[in-house]
Amino acid sequence: MLIGAHILLAGGSRRTDDATRMNDDVLNLVVIGGGAAGYFAALRVGAERPAARIVILESNRRPLEKVRISGGGRCNVTHNCFDPATLVQNYPRGHKELRSAFHRFQPQNMLEWLSERGVAIKAEADGRMFPESDDSSTIIDCFEKERIRERVDLRLNSKAEKVAVLPNATFQIEYALKGEGSANNVTLHAENLMLATGNHISGHAFARQLGHTVTPLAPSLFTFNVRDSALQELSGVSVARVHIDLFLEGKRVAESSGPLLITHWGVSGPAVLKLSAWAARELYAAGYRGVLRIHWATEHTRQQVLEQLAAYQGSNPKKTLLRSPQAGLPARLWEYLLRSTLPDLVERPWDQIGKSALQKLVDLLTNYELAFDGKGQFKDEFVTCGGVDLREVDFRSMQSKVVPGLFFAGEILDIDGITGGFNFQSAWTGGWIAGTAIAQRIDDQA
Ligand SMILES: Cc1cc2nc3c(=O)[nH]c(=O)nc-3n(C[C@H](O)[C@H](O)[C@H](O)COP(=O)(O)OP(=O)(O)OC[C@H]3O[C@@H](n4cnc5c(N)ncnc54)[C@H](O)[C@@H]3O)c2cc1C
Repeated sequence: MLIGAHILLAGGSRRTDDATRMNDDVLNLVVIGGGAAGYFAALRVGAERPAARIVILESNRRPLEKVRISGGGRCNVTHNCFDPATLVQNYPRGHKELRSAFHRFQPQNMLEWLSERGVAIKAEADGRMFPESDDSSTIIDCFEKERIRERVDLRLNSKAEKVAVLPNATFQIEYALKGEGSANNVTLHAENLMLATGNHISGHAFARQLGHTVTPLAPSLFTFNVRDSALQELSGVSVARVHIDLFLEGKRVAESSGPLLITHWGVSGPAVLKLSAWAARELYAAGYRGVLRIHWATEHTRQQVLEQLAAYQGSNPKKTLLRSPQAGLPARLWEYLLRSTLPDLVERPWDQIGKSALQKLVDLLTNYELAFDGKGQFKDEFVTCGGVDLREVDFRSMQSKVVPGLFFAGEILDIDGITGGFNFQSAWTGGWIAGTAIAQRIDDQA
């Protein structure tokens, strides 16, 4: 028995052949990858060209798996930012190319698309947008309903294994059904091929084989490990806003601001995740060892911090430093900072703090150095930096500049965003533009 070989379609007119035998029909489009970008492209083609014959190949037993687990199961579907020039600033890689793309399809368009299909979206204070249901299945159900309505043929447990361009400029795609022997591999032919395999190596291999360059891959959006049990004991403590400079091999390579969270293994939170994204390649090259220089009192300059400490000293001469958390820091964190850098001062009252000790306290609050050694895995959102070289893709259509009829969207490209819904937005935008161009191409090919 075939395992989930086909999802049979309402109406069925677009359904292709039996999965167990060779299919010589030429489809209008095969999409490899039933994730965010692949689905959105297929739905767009289906909506634009109702007669088009479209197949999505998905190696998993369920489609849209990352959508399901995204945002802690809530799906941070996009970001509350509707100005393309501002929006692109959240993409360490791809910002230049996405700018024109966002003029065609941006978060506002995605919200409208979802709203027209009955999905209400809400924005949180930090700009992240989620379905009002706080449940990613709302998005998946919407996409599935659309897929059935547009009669897009979804083949699950179907892993694309080979792709080739034939002399007549059509594509030949061979896929294996999981649980079946290789003798039951299925071959499809299509006029257009879309690679939307996310960060899976098979998609990068297909792209290379078809003549594309894949830029070096490295993880992005991860936390930093700090080997210090005293810090790890503060797990759960957070600071609403810090500024961090990242130093690798003594050189300052990136900076970021935002909330910081102490975890069981080191530091996390938006300020740290942003650094991991902006310096993904440098961190990879440095073996994930370096120093974070943290400014805990971001609202104030060094001089202002010095003045505040002096004022505090004047009015609290007998209080010990330990009992005097500064800059609004949680008491436990303040104690950790003191003990780790100025252990002699911890129990000292303010009236015994001289000028040079005050300067050291200013350093502690504005220039605190925390060495890290290794990367952790941020479970809520993890993406890959690197992918198909953007210079080889026409962003007006998402079509390959190397192979006509080959399209890309989503994480397979050398595009990634920081955490906050930006990665999905890139997938929706790329999928929509590709789908629009494929629909046009289908007309031209008719
Ligand atoms: C845990 C987690 C949470 C996340 N949360 C968020 C979030 O809340 N907001 C946000 O913006 N981003 C989030 N992201 C990032 C986001 O999920 C991805 O950027 C996005 O899914 C990329 O879409 P895609 O379609 O390019 O790839 P994917 O969604 O990964 O889809 C690719 C699909 O292709 C299939 N595939 C691969 N190779 C083959 C093959 N050879 N044959 C057939 N099928 C194949 C895969 O099984 C997969 O289903 C999260 C990521 C993770 C890991």
